[in-house]
Amino acid sequence: MDKTYLPMPQWLINKICLAKQKKDPLTHRFIHDNLAKYRLNTVCRGAWCPNRGSCYSRGTATFMILGNVCTRNCAFCAVSHGKPGEADREEPARLKEAVKVLGLKHVVVNSVTRDDLPDGGADLFAKVIEALHALPSPPAVEVLTPDFGGSLSSLETVLGVNPEVFSHNIETIPRLYSAVRPGASYRRSLGLLAEAVQKARAGTLVKTGFMLGLGEEKQEVADLIRELGDAGVAMLTIGQYLSPSLRHYPVKRYVTEEEFEEWAALARKMGFKSVDAGPLVRSSYRAGDCYREVLDSGAALAVD
Ligand code: SF4
Repeated sequence: MDKTYLPMPQWLINKICLAKQKKDPLTHRFIHDNLAKYRLNTVCRGAWCPNRGSCYSRGTATFMILGNVCTRNCAFCAVSHGKPGEADREEPARLKEAVKVLGLKHVVVNSVTRDDLPDGGADLFAKVIEALHALPSPPAVEVLTPDFGGSLSSLETVLGVNPEVFSHNIETIPRLYSAVRPGASYRRSLGLLAEAVQKARAGTLVKTGFMLGLGEEKQEVADLIRELGDAGVAMLTIGQYLSPSLRHYPVKRYVTEEEFEEWAALARKMGFKSVDAGPLVRSSYRAGDCYREVLDSGAALAVD
């Protein structure tokens, strides 16, 4: 693989610095301390997300359950990989307490991939959703799950407890899977999303996200958006791939904000109910806003 380093353009460096300045020290501290107190992981920290400052300051965070060691090793991901420990059955209860203390209105829960667990961790996702829905003023729960090895029973376990948003990231175009997402399969991930659309109960929106800048051609991006639209996916995020280090998959291209807007316009034309696209957009960035936008637009009902 050609690992030529592509310097980041100044406009993007400025944008990231600005995002990092959007930090309200008090709220940031509060979130940080409570994550530590309740022994919770966040992908925000594990993936060195540039939006952490603004998300924490807006009272949102993405919680990572099932430990912080992944059984896979995607070339773009900074999460540690290897042999994970036991699944922590107390995690749903601690997450419930933390969300209550933090007063979160929209909670995103994701996880590493746990190919070592028979159900891929689906039962713990379900327990987390149930725990959060049992809160006096329950938040909207968005789960961003691994592919569960394509297991439909794992998918049904999660959908069966009615998360407000079921999300699984397709990440990139099929041609790049072997280099970027070894261990995953494009058809399996697309199939999981299509099944989720069919099996989701009223009130559950299906969402996915992918990155640009990994070497995809424009026609491949258009085909990807079309396939996701044909599968009935309602919500979409498109962001710029930023390489966590020189050891990770190299950035092949920095995409302009104008081009992101073009893809967003195409996706909206294809019928997606919510599209968030931009260099710093991540699948859980502004997740609560995007969800509320769909609800407010009444488009959610059309999905049922
Ligand atoms: S499966 Fe997810 S957590 Fe694991 S390496 Fe890939 S992107 Fe990272």
